[in-house]
Amino acid sequence: MATLEIRDLHVSVEAENGAREILRGVDLTVKQGETHAIMGPNGSGKSTLAYSLAGHPKYTITSGTVLLDGEDVLEMTVDERARAGIFLAMQYPVEVPGVSVSNFLRTSATAIRGEAPKLRTWVKEVKEAMEALHMDPSFAERNVNEGFSGGEKKRHEILQMELLKPKVAILDETDSGLDVDALRVVSEGVNRVRETGQVGTLLITHYTRILRYIKPDFVHVFAAGRIAESGGPELAEKLENEGYEAYVKAGAAAE
Ligand code: ADP
Ligand code: MG
Ligand code: MG
Repeated sequence: MATLEIRDLHVSVEAENGAREILRGVDLTVKQGETHAIMGPNGSGKSTLAYSLAGHPKYTITSGTVLLDGEDVLEMTVDERARAGIFLAMQYPVEVPGVSVSNFLRTSATAIRGEAPKLRTWVKEVKEAMEALHMDPSFAERNVNEGFSGGEKKRHEILQMELLKPKVAILDETDSGLDVDALRVVSEGVNRVRETGQVGTLLITHYTRILRYIKPDFVHVFAAGRIAESGGPELAEKLENEGYEAYVKAGAAAE
């Protein structure tokens, strides 16, 4: 059973007036098969957590540990993390000019599986995954994220997740900017991967809306760079009713 363990993680970014601490001691354990919703106000550091786990060079880990099955994730390169099974669906997916979706997916799958997927089964796999996400087949020949709508970008992120079969999937506001139909299709994709029981999911979101489609096992409130409260699905209902204000105030008072 794959387990991701984050212990007392502190992360800074370089700002104009020196280093600024964004993550202030994050503790979280995500086991294969579990879904954890991380909910918090804008600017609380949710994306910083996502990028730090994926190994983005802009974020400096000042202390703490991240282990995947006991292996030190923070010592791994971005590629090594992906091969180890860590997958990040970005809040703002980036364009890759000159690279088609089809090539991108195959290259990624080859890198992660350690060998090129057999062409016949691969073509079928991609076709089925695209159909399930209601994506037109012509989409495969477009350049990654170039001119994609918000919904298309998010579907493409989930398409990667379905094909790459990560051990830990970090979904950073995959729900933002989606209309109800797209939200449903994208959520169904996440649930399909989840139902395999092979993935631990970190579902980062600002709104409770996506939790109607993807039922978390645990809900964590993220405020001022750390987890302020953890609970079950009932915590999401409390947030829906009361918002983040109390957590933001408490976070500001602690600074
Ligand atoms: P969230 O995803 O919860 O909205 P972020 O992690 O994006 O929050 O940002 C948390 C804080 O860190 C914000 O104040 C943001 O401006 C700051 N921040 C994040 N990334 C950078 C960066 N690369 N450079 C400077 N500041 C950053
Ligand atoms: Mg934000
Ligand atoms: Mg964010």
